[in-house]
Amino acid sequence: MDTYDVIVIGAGPAGYVAAIRCAQLGARVLCVEKWQNEAKQQSLGGTCLNVGCIPSKALLESSHRYEVAQNHLAAEGIKIKGLSLDLAAMLKRKDEIVKKLTGGIAMLFKANQVTSAYGVGKLLKDKQVEVRSMQGTKKVYQAKHIILASGSVPMALPTAPFQRDLVTDSTGALSLATVPADLCIIGAGIIGLELGSVWGRLGSRVTLLEALPDFLPMVDRQVAKDALKHYRAQGLVIKLGCKVTQVKPAKKGATVSYTEDGKQHTLQTAKVVVAVGRKPYTEGLLAEDCGVRLDERGFIPVDDQCRTECADVYAIGDLVRGPMLAHKGSEEGMMVAELIAGKTAAVNYDLVPNVIYTAPEIAWVGLGEDQARAAGKECKVGTFSFAASGRAMANNDTRGLVKIVADKQTDAVLGVHIVGNQAGELISQAVVAMEFMTSAEDLQLTIFAHPTLAEALHEAALAVDGRAIHAVTRRAR
Ligand code: FAD
Ligand code: AMP
Repeated sequence: MDTYDVIVIGAGPAGYVAAIRCAQLGARVLCVEKWQNEAKQQSLGGTCLNVGCIPSKALLESSHRYEVAQNHLAAEGIKIKGLSLDLAAMLKRKDEIVKKLTGGIAMLFKANQVTSAYGVGKLLKDKQVEVRSMQGTKKVYQAKHIILASGSVPMALPTAPFQRDLVTDSTGALSLATVPADLCIIGAGIIGLELGSVWGRLGSRVTLLEALPDFLPMVDRQVAKDALKHYRAQGLVIKLGCKVTQVKPAKKGATVSYTEDGKQHTLQTAKVVVAVGRKPYTEGLLAEDCGVRLDERGFIPVDDQCRTECADVYAIGDLVRGPMLAHKGSEEGMMVAELIAGKTAAVNYDLVPNVIYTAPEIAWVGLGEDQARAAGKECKVGTFSFAASGRAMANNDTRGLVKIVADKQTDAVLGVHIVGNQAGELISQAVVAMEFMTSAEDLQLTIFAHPTLAEALHEAALAVDGRAIHAVTRRAR
């Protein structure tokens, strides 16, 4: 039987990072992956590179440029005649980026001497892994340590079963061959908002139906409210408290039935995208006697260091508790590799940044104002609006604000929340500062380059103590 120091099942951002780091630390590593690209070849990189973070960002960027060229450049004195959309070229660019990046992981595996096996991996007992090839042949390997990283898949909605070309999931929504006249998205979460933005900018009339009465409940309330206003202003119809009860094919497209305030409504639409969340993927992953079980929600239970109940078997990424985010999974991959090598390692789960890549973007880290207060903390809050930022004006996008939540007693920054252009880039500055346990005063005493959008972070920190310069706040001493 072939033996390895470490076998990783799944080559998404959690698994491939773990595999490479283990190899860097001197381990013999096998990484098992079953993903097929269109040419029926193994594709590394998981959901993130193939049908998640990267292709969605490629389309968000392209569709944003198209929308800016259409609606905003004239105000800057740039007139474009004959602007048109070549959707096939836009999709091709996205596919080429995916190909380049997934091929890049294969190169990194080679460079780091990570062996890759193509097939479905199953954890057996005694740290053995069976790999079933696409042809159905089986081979069993043995390892000292196992890392499970099989990720997640889109959740289906029983009331809206998938139907080719009519009702699709996020993967289908990344490759629509034409721009539908109208698009109904079920679920106004992160993925629904991003995909709705793409197709809305390209010309679809987009309606998002969200079951919950609150918009983006995980986001600071003030930030969520501001973002909702901007999304609606750009034409996205966002209906809250609407539960979809049925989706039926109609003459042209589909009829979506939903309840709102206890009343039944219907909506005619050309296409439907179901974006109601993702669930851990464990089909065929665990032999009955392997020693690892699932919890009631289908996740693999782990401790803070991603250890399962079975000695030397770890689980990381979307497969385990915590936000389903690529960078969270990658950090867990790094941590587990270090632990296997006998080093000390931990993930700071309190400081995982979140980004919604819409326009404006939303980004946050740490506690929202309500969350902080609910946790019993006495808070002081500073906000600064991009409407008062010279750079935001120069950039022709003054939407949004920065909000900093600090502890009233200790001055420690508890959370930073941004809605605005490039919020996803700006938030890293807050994460770094909070990793170093920044106080609001530390940020106040830090010099930010002028003119930058980041100055809004500085002003928001000053505003925590009523000291903002470019905003009228209460008089400070
Ligand atoms: P995955 O990426 O799902 O990878 C798991 C891998 O395991 C897959 O390749 C799968 O084929 C393989 N596998 C599963 N079972 C087996 C088996 N038995 N044998 C062999 N191989 C197996 N996150 C962000 O942080 N930022 C974003 O901007 C972002 N945008 C997203 C946009 C969309 C449209 C979607 C759908 C997701 C997005 N995400 C984003 C979420 C992100 O993609 C996931 O959090 C991330 O991919 C999880 O990484 P993972 O390695 O745990 O799992
Ligand atoms: P996320 O988990 O960020 O991908 O968001 C998924 C969203 O879909 C959540 O806000 C859910 O409340 C929402 N959702 C789930 N089921 C339904 C449903 N039947 N109708 C409308 N929205 C739903």
